[in-house]
Amino acid sequence: MRMWGIDPSLLCQKHLIGEHGEIHKHRHNFIKKHKITNRITPIVQIEPENMQKRHDELVLEMLKRGYKHNSPYEQPDLSYLKAEERYAQIDINISIADLTNRCVECAQKMIKNDNFISVNNNTIRPNNIYI
Ligand SMILES: [Zn+2]
Ligand SMILES: [Zn+2]
Repeated sequence: MRMWGIDPSLLCQKHLIGEHGEIHKHRHNFIKKHKITNRITPIVQIEPENMQKRHDELVLEMLKRGYKHNSPYEQPDLSYLKAEERYAQIDINISIADLTNRCVECAQKMIKNDNFISVNNNTIRPNNIYI
């Protein structure tokens, strides 16, 4: 389970649909009050408090691309989590670096949108990764 946190319009179909599905799947862990320590450290992979908001952003992009959506996400009770887990925040630069390295389609979308990204404080274009 990983929330990318990147502008949904820059995700390829696979990663857009994947992140949406994983948010739904992960909800069960909150209902069961499972520990999420390994989702928060060493790298923050999920933002529990923002999952509903993120779900809805992903759905908007899915609808734009012609997908149907019939699975509203209801925010579960997160009060059992420690504040640093509940309100954890993804480092979007890590997401962009990982995603552009692992997915050519996502990287191409970022190039098409002429987005400049920042990795380790160096502003680079995603296509430089492949040159
Ligand atoms: Zn949904
Ligand atoms: Zn992708």
